[in-house]
Amino acid sequence: MAQAAKATRQNRTITVDFHDEATYSQLLGDTKAFIECVLAFLLSLGFQLTHQSTCDGGGSLTRHSHYARVRLGGLTIWRVQCTRCKAVFTVLPHFVLRYRQMRPEAARDALLATHGGLSLEMCAAICHISPMALYRVICALGTQSLVAVLTRCALPLPRYILADEKHSKCLTDKVYLPTIVSGRVMWHLGYSDAKSAVAFTESYGAFQRAALEYKPSYRVQGALIDGFDSTTSATSCLET
Ligand SMILES: [Zn+2]
Repeated sequence: MAQAAKATRQNRTITVDFHDEATYSQLLGDTKAFIECVLAFLLSLGFQLTHQSTCDGGGSLTRHSHYARVRLGGLTIWRVQCTRCKAVFTVLPHFVLRYRQMRPEAARDALLATHGGLSLEMCAAICHISPMALYRVICALGTQSLVAVLTRCALPLPRYILADEKHSKCLTDKVYLPTIVSGRVMWHLGYSDAKSAVAFTESYGAFQRAALEYKPSYRVQGALIDGFDSTTSATSCLET
């Protein structure tokens, strides 16, 4: 779909906003309306489908029964084909996470459950997904550094920060979540089961490493802290 994807591998998966699941399942039974909905959506965004290089895209799209169904967690996914170049496009409804055979609601619940301290097996069981699928979601979403994500969103690194540890519980144990915020943006969310300067320094250091990797000359101009000794010594490394 995206022109930028052409240089690498052809990306023929299109995510279409069908408004809601009820509309989507209704359209599944009506080929003509389904295709029209897909085309109208693409048109409204101004996207071009990536056809074969020999095709000008002037053909029409059909929904062949041959490509009809891929089961995705009980959901029917259709594929449409260009009548001219035979390129096949997978139409994903917006409520399915791309490449993940899991609904966003299930992924959210399972991620929350793992964060709350349940085992992978337990989380997978209560969300009706496989432990391996959950593990892959954690690998895909859970290891992202906030610094990497936010700087990619073109946010400048914070000049002034507020560092504090939130208290939380992992089952019956008390745990600490070292956080760094600036304004309304959270730049770091750590996790520690020890309330020690060493543990907090390690956590806040993760923010510093990520920031320096993005911008080697980065220094925090000022850090507001709660005055707790561990935080004081832990965040001193962030300042010049
Ligand atoms: Zn074509």
